[in-house]
Amino acid sequence: MDLAFTPEEQAFREEVRAWVRAHLPAHIAHKVHNALRLTREDMQGWAKILGKKGWLAFGWPQQFGGPGWTAVQKHLFEEECALAGAPRIVPFGPVMVAPVIMAYGTPEQQQRFLPGIASGEVWWSQGYSEPGSGSDLASVKTRAERVGDKYIVNGQKTWTTLGQYGEWMFNLVRTSNEGKPQTGISFLLIDMKSPGVTVRPIKLLDGECEVNEVFFDNVEVPVENLVGEENKGWTYAKHLLSHERTNIADVNRSKRELERLKRIAKTEGLWDDTRFRDQIALLEVDIVALEMLVLRVLSMEKSGKNPLDIAGLLKIKGSEIQQRYSELMMLAAGPFALPFIEEAMEAGWQGDFPGGVVANAPLASTYFNLRKTTIYGGSNEVQRNIVAQTVLG
Ligand SMILES: Cc1cc2nc3c(=O)[nH]c(=O)nc-3n(C[C@H](O)[C@H](O)[C@H](O)COP(=O)(O)OP(=O)(O)OC[C@H]3O[C@@H](n4cnc5c(N)ncnc54)[C@H](O)[C@@H]3O)c2cc1C
Repeated sequence: MDLAFTPEEQAFREEVRAWVRAHLPAHIAHKVHNALRLTREDMQGWAKILGKKGWLAFGWPQQFGGPGWTAVQKHLFEEECALAGAPRIVPFGPVMVAPVIMAYGTPEQQQRFLPGIASGEVWWSQGYSEPGSGSDLASVKTRAERVGDKYIVNGQKTWTTLGQYGEWMFNLVRTSNEGKPQTGISFLLIDMKSPGVTVRPIKLLDGECEVNEVFFDNVEVPVENLVGEENKGWTYAKHLLSHERTNIADVNRSKRELERLKRIAKTEGLWDDTRFRDQIALLEVDIVALEMLVLRVLSMEKSGKNPLDIAGLLKIKGSEIQQRYSELMMLAAGPFALPFIEEAMEAGWQGDFPGGVVANAPLASTYFNLRKTTIYGGSNEVQRNIVAQTVLG
């Protein structure tokens, strides 16, 4: 197994690095490096810059307008973006629904939806979870009843990330109660501006409204918005979830945040404490190990072997690492991490802060926000069950 990059791959990395440094707006990179609040304009602005270059659809084959990169090139692109302080690409359009539309959509659906996703113009949301249907996703109850050339949709989705900006939403809906729960689910694309769609924000521990409840009240959806066959949505949903879990491992962001942790520890003096530095070293070892795991998967793909089915493992390790660095940042900042001032998340905030350590003010928010990582994208307990089944049979 060869984990080293070839000279061509190194040259590719240099090209991406130079382009990202030249095009990533400085005010956005500043916010990302300091964990400050990103607005819709920040996230979509960067998406559109990437879209113009043809890189928002970085995972797509050329046939659908993507760059047709290898797995290694995709990895290097994501790493360079993360290290430069680019916002994470909001995955719901380019990373999640697009591969489903490419694999199972009609040519008309591909022509209609893919360009808006690749350019960053259209914001997508994910409508899988419902109250009572998270880990047990096959139990979704939101009902889509076929009436002529329309579906009439009634029900509720929840935890819809950034759904307040959503223009389109891909949903798992129940179209049949016959047989096993999995066999009665369909994959439906819903225009969120349709009459009967209500989005209600949920305020979280970190003070932000990152997630929402979405209600459907007799929403009319044209049948041409059904992806693939009716009642086969479970197959398409699984295709998408494997992308979601690999994406969530986000080892590149952890590498960047490790540097932030070191900066905070040095500013606050805890860097001189060898026991604390031990904790940082242990975290760094785990991040390197996770990176090696990712590189092993890439190497297997490169040599044409089937990669290990380890999306669940990547999700578990990646999310635990994210929580650990946020905990160590809290410890490093000591008493300055405690005050929780929502306004401190705004770039340029210079509020009255005891001790004046303004840069550490958003730490509590980061800490609270990252509690989610072991829950979303399939909880870690459930991932452990899946990994155990894969490894032990
Ligand atoms: C911040 C955030 C953003 C999210 N964004 C989206 C989104 O955009 N779109 C979307 O559709 N969903 C989203 N989700 C939902 C997410 O996928 C679910 O929260 C997750 O799948 C867990 O489901 P649940 O919340 O219903 O918990 P439950 O399934 O009720 O689980 C409760 C607890 O029981 C444990 N548990 C459940 N089943 C088992 C089992 N078989 N074995 C062992 N333990 C078990 C779980 O690990 C958990 O600890 C988001 C969630 C969060 C927190």
